[in-house]
Formats: sequence, C-alpha cells, structure tokens
Amino acid sequence: MTSPLHPPLLHREDLLSLSGEKVRQWKADITASPYRSYLYSYPHKTAYGDLQPPLPLAELWQSEPAESFFLYMHIPFCGARCGFCNLFTLPDKRADVHTRYVDALERQAREWSAFTGHKPFARFAIGGGTPTLLAADQLRRLFSIAVDIMGLDTGTTSISVETSPETISVEKLDILKDAAVDRVSMGIQSFVAAESAAIYRPQQPDEVYRALELLGRYDFPVLNLDLIYGLPGQTVESWVYSLNRALAYAPEEIFIYPLYTREHTIVKPDTIRLQEDIRIECYNAACELLEQHGYRQYSMRRFAKEAAGTDKPILDYSCQEEGMVGLGCGARSYTRNVHYASRYGVSRKATESIIADYVAAEHYDTADYGIMLSLGEQKRRFILKAILHSEGLALTDYSGRFGTTVWQDFPELALLPASGLARETDGVLRLTPEGLGYSDSIGDWFISGEIRGRMERFVLP
Ligand code: SF4
Repeated sequence: MTSPLHPPLLHREDLLSLSGEKVRQWKADITASPYRSYLYSYPHKTAYGDLQPPLPLAELWQSEPAESFFLYMHIPFCGARCGFCNLFTLPDKRADVHTRYVDALERQAREWSAFTGHKPFARFAIGGGTPTLLAADQLRRLFSIAVDIMGLDTGTTSISVETSPETISVEKLDILKDAAVDRVSMGIQSFVAAESAAIYRPQQPDEVYRALELLGRYDFPVLNLDLIYGLPGQTVESWVYSLNRALAYAPEEIFIYPLYTREHTIVKPDTIRLQEDIRIECYNAACELLEQHGYRQYSMRRFAKEAAGTDKPILDYSCQEEGMVGLGCGARSYTRNVHYASRYGVSRKATESIIADYVAAEHYDTADYGIMLSLGEQKRRFILKAILHSEGLALTDYSGRFGTTVWQDFPELALLPASGLARETDGVLRLTPEGLGYSDSIGDWFISGEIRGRMERFVLP
C-alpha cells in the first residue's frame, strides 16, 4: 500500500515502459507535498538502534578509508528550546553543568585521539545547541581540546562555529578570532519580533542588530545567517523584509529553512495547519531576491557568494562526510559503513538522562548505538549527498566507487530527468532549479524501505 506521502518507487520493468502518464503522475506526487522530511543526513538518526555487541572504535577508525577527517563537537545546551526544534539539546544555562560536560568531552577526546590521530583533519565545526552559551573559559577549552589533544592544525583546517544573537560578546568573539575560525553561523530565523515570539524565541530585533554589528567588526571570512520561512503569522512580505534585513549585513552565506513541526516539537503541526501554507511562495521569493543580490544557490537551503571562503590551504575533504569524528553527547560519527552516536531524545527528561550518562561514563571507546550501512544504503547515501546539492552526482564517481552504474542500481532515478526535475549534462546528474525546490520530497522518496521502516518504528522518549 502506498500513501500520498510515500509514492511508490518504480522498478526496471516499469521504466522500460516509462510512459508520459506515469512520469506525470510521479511528478504530481512529488510536487503535491514538498515538505516531508529534511534529509540532514542519511540514514536519519531515528533509524539508529543498539549495536550488539558494541563495536571497538580503535578497529572502526583504523580501517576508515577517508583521506582526511572532519572533527565535530556538539554542545547540547541552549538558553531555551525553540518551538520548531527537534535537535538534541537541553535548555540549561548553569555554568557548573557546562563545565562538567566539557570535562567529559575532554576525557572522550583523550581516548579518541588514539583512534583518529593517523589522519589529518580538514574541517572542524562546533555546533549544538548553542556553543557560545558556554562561558568564555569553556569555549576556549574546546579549541585547546581540538588542537592539543586531537591534533588539529588550525592553519589548514576550515573551522566553523554556531552562535546566537544573545550569546555573543567581545570576549567570545576574540576567542573565535584567535582560534582562526573561518565561518560563524548565526541563527536569526526572523527579524520580526512577533514571529520570533511565536516560535518561543523571545528575541528583540535590537539584540540581533547589536550582534550583527559586533560580528561585522571581526570580519570573519564567512558569516552565515539562518532564516526560517513559514513561521506562524508570517507573510511573504514579512519574509522578504527579514531577508532584506539580513542582506543589509552582506553575509557571505544565507541558509533558508522551511518550517517543519512534528508532534514532539513545541509548535504543533495542527497550529501550522490552521494558516495558509506559504512556504513555496516564500522559497520562490527568496531564490529571486538572493539571485538579484549575487548569491549562488548551492542547495534548497544554502545560498552563498561565489568567492566566499577561507584563504587557508585546506586539505581535500569529500562532501560525502565520511570520516566524521563527532565528540560530545548528541554528536554523530560517520565511518564509511558505520554511523553511530549517543541515544537520541528531544524531551527534557530524555536529553537530561542521556547527557548524565555521557558525563558519568568512564570510557568512550566503543560504539553501542547506531547503524551499520549495507552496500545498498552506502549507495543511496552517496547519491543523496550528491544529488541534493547543485554540484550534482558525477556518474563516473559512483561507478568508480561501487563498480556498478547508477542506472543499473536505481533505474527509478530515470524519473528525475524524465520529469524535468533533473538533467544529465556531461555525465553529471543535477537537479534543475525546479527540482532543487523539491529536494525534501525527492530525498524522502529515495529513502529505502528498510530505513523508512526503522524510522517509523522509532518512538521518541
Ligand atoms: S533551534 Fe537551535 S537555538 Fe533553538 S533550541 Fe534548537 S538548537 Fe537551540
């Protein structure tokens, strides 16, 4: 049985007779509901489960083929939980809680450096949560853990840190500058106070302007601003107003996110259903405005100036995000065939208990929760990581890696060019501008039945 949200995958025999009617029907299904799930990663964390017996990390990382690694640190604390947020984070501002957490992260780093020290890091990111909620001394510690314990070379690593308007200060930005941070990303979501309040993010525009002016003085190579469209009470006009306010600060990069709500987020899907869904109109307005301002579209969410980037000689790092070393509770780690993390939760009770276990742990040397990727899932992941970005899927990269062709393995992908949502040019399959706008429904359509089943069985505590 299929539901409108899960249109059927076609198979080889269907495609031999890929009629215009079938293609039209498939496209109608894909475009009927563009906002199904955000494939931030594949497989999603809700597809993870217990790994029994636990896998020794020393062996896992020893055999990881990636040439260089990506170091990620997760700081799972925020001042308050935003109404749309389903990330692993705990509203907790207590300094002693933060210090004990960084102590644990340091112990974890001491163990892990022995597992991952044989390859250099090309990228380093501190995310969350809100990393700059930490006091200055704890924030500084994160960089010394990265450099002194994990062996990170800040001269050849691209470094990114997430922040929020109310948590940045001169002292903290000095730390980021001293640590040669290349990219600072700030979640703003909206410049309209009533819209921020409606998502339980009581943020005054003046606070945002203060933060942006302060950030401007530091001139980081890349300033990224995050905005959300489809907020309660938002109109296309107020969305364009927020975009223009952001553009006034000439950020090198802008991420625009459609609003998603789930049963476990504070703002409920029923509340959102009461208002007209303007997300497609907002998205189209943003594409037009950002193009006029010289931004190139790299994905459904990411727009950036062509020249944006660091001057550092960064090592090559595949966009496939293999070799991701995730320190901290809630961080995911990716090797080519195993993805692992701590357990996932959203409620206060769940996040508190998972963080307490992390802080109390004596060792961090095995993976006991995650997923082993079959060859089929590795192939799907490879395709999804490439095709949902403007650089597209180089068909020879795929056959070079897997020894088979995309069309042999996933003939149903022929629906993309047949429907006009993608185009194959010079051996690269790329979404068209129209297709990029439907990235979320295309990504959702391509999830395997096995992974979908695991995700649907997952119950958030
Ligand atoms: S959206 Fe970001 S700032 Fe808001 S609660 Fe979630 S992690 Fe914290």
